[in-house]
Amino acid sequence: MVERLVPFSTTIFAEMSALAVAHDAINLGQGFPDTDGPASMLAAAVEAINDGQNQYPPGIGVPSLRQAVARHQREHYGLDYDPDTEVLVTVGATEAIAGAIVGLVEPGREVVMVEPYYDSYAATVAMAGGVRRTVPLVPDGDGFRLDRDRLAAAFTPATSVILVNSPHNPTGTVLSDDDLAEIARLCIDHDVVAVTDEVYEHLLFDGRTHRPLATFPGMRERTLRISSAAKTFNCTGWKVGWISGPPELVAAARAAKQFMSYVGSGPFQPAVAHALDTEMTWVTESAVRLQHQRDLLAAALTDAGFGVHRSEATYFICADPRPLGFDDAAQFCRELPATVGVAAVPVSAFVDDHDSWRHLVRFAFSKQEHVIAEAADRLRKLR
Ligand code: PMP
Ligand code: GLN
Repeated sequence: MVERLVPFSTTIFAEMSALAVAHDAINLGQGFPDTDGPASMLAAAVEAINDGQNQYPPGIGVPSLRQAVARHQREHYGLDYDPDTEVLVTVGATEAIAGAIVGLVEPGREVVMVEPYYDSYAATVAMAGGVRRTVPLVPDGDGFRLDRDRLAAAFTPATSVILVNSPHNPTGTVLSDDDLAEIARLCIDHDVVAVTDEVYEHLLFDGRTHRPLATFPGMRERTLRISSAAKTFNCTGWKVGWISGPPELVAAARAAKQFMSYVGSGPFQPAVAHALDTEMTWVTESAVRLQHQRDLLAAALTDAGFGVHRSEATYFICADPRPLGFDDAAQFCRELPATVGVAAVPVSAFVDDHDSWRHLVRFAFSKQEHVIAEAADRLRKLR
């Protein structure tokens, strides 16, 4: 294996999901839902298969999905993208991130990212031969906020891209409009491209709303906006994602994508197009259920004796096991499946600064109520 990929040889999700299986534990580690997406979407995929849509689709994605993605962004955010030149369908958001970074970052150039960062960011920057510069989230009451001074200091003449993830995995933080405005200002001042990972754009709680960075003045022309059907429509196994942005930036990601997967899977694309066009009420209701599941898991963790952070969005909530006598979250997570039958992931898997984050555990609440109730019973044994 090449040296730069050695640190990325096994993902934390593969490691913790294997432990969950080995110990028959409830998997609150890897973020996936345990119920299906809208029935009409599932039926549309079956129909596409039966209809013979089983050969290579167009490399940039089937027209119906590119058009639905463009329509969706116009309706939700007033963002106008040409479905033929400004939308690219990818194999999940994962390939969108990889295509964008490999297509835009020259070896040795820098990519700014907020820490903790989704694990694929660091691996992808390493594959491109780029250099990552991290900016920490800092504790703020029971939540987290961006350290704007550190953010400004992270921009150098070598910066080519900033990766922005809001709503944020793993903390569930939603960046404020002021944070986004500051990111926009820095991108414009330093002539930097923003790659925005917005896969949780529809999963915000307590009346919060999502605002894409691309809607800020001067940002549409320098932003590649990424999303995915996985979390919006409960279909993480379908691997349908997309990128939108100005033609020259989309072309860079497309050049890389062509030789990563060539094309995405065919029959799922018209099904996701159908869901984007007709199932957004289902998504709104799903977010309401998810908020309730967050409340149940937060209460369970508090009851079990954890210090619990605020989660404003996503599938995830962070908890501090130090009140229970555990100060190393990685070790805690390695033992948890065997000791109480629950799997979680340590936030240290998403950081460079291990000391600052070694005490935090990420739990996924994208599970049915009875599953969270059973996890609550098991976690109570930690007291
Ligand atoms: N980015 C973030 C922040 C994620 O949490 C995930 C997992 N859904 C991904 C990217 C990858 O998305 P996909 O499964 O569509 O590849
Ligand atoms: N995005 C999901 C998570 O953060 C799944 C990640 C994965 O399995 N690679 O848990």
